[in-house]
Formats: sequence, structure tokens, C-alpha cells
Amino acid sequence: MQPPKSSICVLCAIRPATTHDHVPPKGLFKGLEAQLITVPACSTCNNGSSSDDEDLRFFISVQIGKQTAGSAKLWNDGAHKSIKRKTKLREAVIASTRTVETMDNEGNCVERLGFEVPVRIYQTVFERTTRGLFFFHTGRILSPNTLVVVDMLRGQPELESPEIRSLTRNSIAGEACVYRFGIGEADSSFWLYEFYGAHWVMVRTGSFFEQ
Ligand SMILES: [Zn+2]
Repeated sequence: MQPPKSSICVLCAIRPATTHDHVPPKGLFKGLEAQLITVPACSTCNNGSSSDDEDLRFFISVQIGKQTAGSAKLWNDGAHKSIKRKTKLREAVIASTRTVETMDNEGNCVERLGFEVPVRIYQTVFERTTRGLFFFHTGRILSPNTLVVVDMLRGQPELESPEIRSLTRNSIAGEACVYRFGIGEADSSFWLYEFYGAHWVMVRTGSFFEQ
């Protein structure tokens, strides 16, 4: 499939496209040989995002652990370096670290250390990614007024449900990122992102959920 072209940035839908941006961000595929997706973007959208992309990679990496070869690479070659180098990120994690009560595998209440995962970073990075992929798959640019709502999911959604099975499935870098999507009328669409088989993010665009 030949990727669609645009002279306007498909991420902000305002400024001229002078460069290409990776969607999802290329840092999420650290150390992996992969054919990544790029879309036409302005330099403001492209350059303004790298710090958020790096922080997001850290938060995804700590949540998925490093049980598989891919997720271990993500931590060792990427997230671990970020937390050592980025003082602001480190300070934010330390400042929000608390003792939280959680359930162990036997259903007992146990205390663990937890820290806040910033919703803003998920919103920013996944909104950009979704605007880019919407263009990539439809050739249409979402308006700046289109609502894009990002939800982090706590566990694995019901992937065998008829709703999810009906979505189009695409994968990047083997199974490092699998995303499923459905395009509705006008600017409405539904996206389910899966990273390393262990982390899920749901995104909806358009006005259908305003009602
Ligand atoms: Zn832009």
C-alpha cells in the first residue's frame, strides 16, 4: 500500500508538512528491526514530541516488565537509560511514589510501592499517534476540533469478543505493537493498541461519544 500524501501536517492539521513523524513513536521499538509508519508532519509537531515520547516509553516499560526479549530490550536499551539521564522524569517518579494496597495472586491484601502514571503524556502521545494512523489508513486528516479520548486499560481486554474481532488488525515490529481499529462515519473511529502483549490503550475519535 502506497502511503497517502499531504502538504498539510496531518497531526495539527494547520501548518505545512515539512517533515515526517513516526506513529507510534519510534522509541517504543528500541533495538528492534522494524518497518515503522511515518506521516507528513510539521517540524513543530515533530520536534515538540520527543520528550513526551521518551517519558511514555519509560511508563509503558515499567508497567510491562521485561519477561520477553522485546520488552527486556525496551527497558535495557531505552527506558533504563532515560530514567538515569532525565532528572525531571526521575524526580516526578520519586515524588509520586507511595505505598499502595493491592491484591497478590492468592487474593491477599498486600502493600507495594507504586507511583503515578501521568495521564497527560498518554493523552498527548496517543492522540498524535491516532491522528497520524487515521490519516495513514483513510487518507483523511482529522480536524483540530475532533475530540480524541485516550484511556489506559488496566488489564487485557476481551480480545475474542465479536466487537474486537471485527476490527482491522495491524502489527509493527512483529508483536511489539499490535493495533486494531474501526473507522466509523465522518471523524469517528475506535483504536485498541497493544504493546508487547502486555499493555493496552484504547482511543476513540469523533463526536459519537459526546451524546
Ligand atoms: Zn503539525
